[in-house]
Amino acid sequence: MKIKGLLHVHSNNSFDGETPIKKLAKLAHKQNFSFICLTDHLEKQSNISKIRKECKENSDSQLKIIPGIEVEYKDSHILSINFLDKRLLTKTSLDTYNLVNSKPQSLAILAHPNKKRQLRGFKHVEVWNAKHHGSLAPKSSLFIKNNINFCGLDLHKETHFGKNWIEMKVSKLNEKEIIRKLKKGDFKICNKFFCIGAKQTISNRNKIIFILINQYFTLLQRIVYRTEKIRKKFPKLMRLLQNVY
Ligand SMILES: [Zn+2]
Ligand SMILES: [Zn+2]
Repeated sequence: MKIKGLLHVHSNNSFDGETPIKKLAKLAHKQNFSFICLTDHLEKQSNISKIRKECKENSDSQLKIIPGIEVEYKDSHILSINFLDKRLLTKTSLDTYNLVNSKPQSLAILAHPNKKRQLRGFKHVEVWNAKHHGSLAPKSSLFIKNNINFCGLDLHKETHFGKNWIEMKVSKLNEKEIIRKLKKGDFKICNKFFCIGAKQTISNRNKIIFILINQYFTLLQRIVYRTEKIRKKFPKLMRLLQNVY
């Protein structure tokens, strides 16, 4: 069966998230998503067991909420999915990424890089972070041959829900199967306009289109977030523009 899921989602267990896991589950059911990879920023070990418990309680036969954390790594972050270990709360390195990916049932992804040089040593990369790169298109300069390319929401509030998503085919719905497919790159990254295979390279034509869209997004971001005067003068237009994320 074909399923859809969301990656890089923050709940209110994270300092930067405002949506309870229960509410995320409700939204997922409503919009037909079958899995959510939760990746909260956690400071305390006690939160690890809380997250695990809440993910389990809000999962059912139609929806799997997979627990995870997001940790600092140089000038980006690393998403650790289904591997919540207190060692990750103190320090991270490329070894952290390799450690998590060495476990068959967990997955590590480099989160929201902006430059190609940040990708060194990583195979699993979030090339399309709706918050950092916009929900309209991935950042084409981050596509590298033989890498596995992910899209993530970096969801902090409900309005970010479902702006991009992952599609895959599974024989049955369980965490193990979802992580296996994600790790292998057996999925597509999508929004309402198009889907791209996780291991697909993109054509020069699409590269140019994505670059133009990314630049449009950056420009909008500047206007929306930095120009207080315009924001006050044209509140309706600003709300419309904000829809890109
Ligand atoms: Zn981050
Ligand atoms: Zn995040």
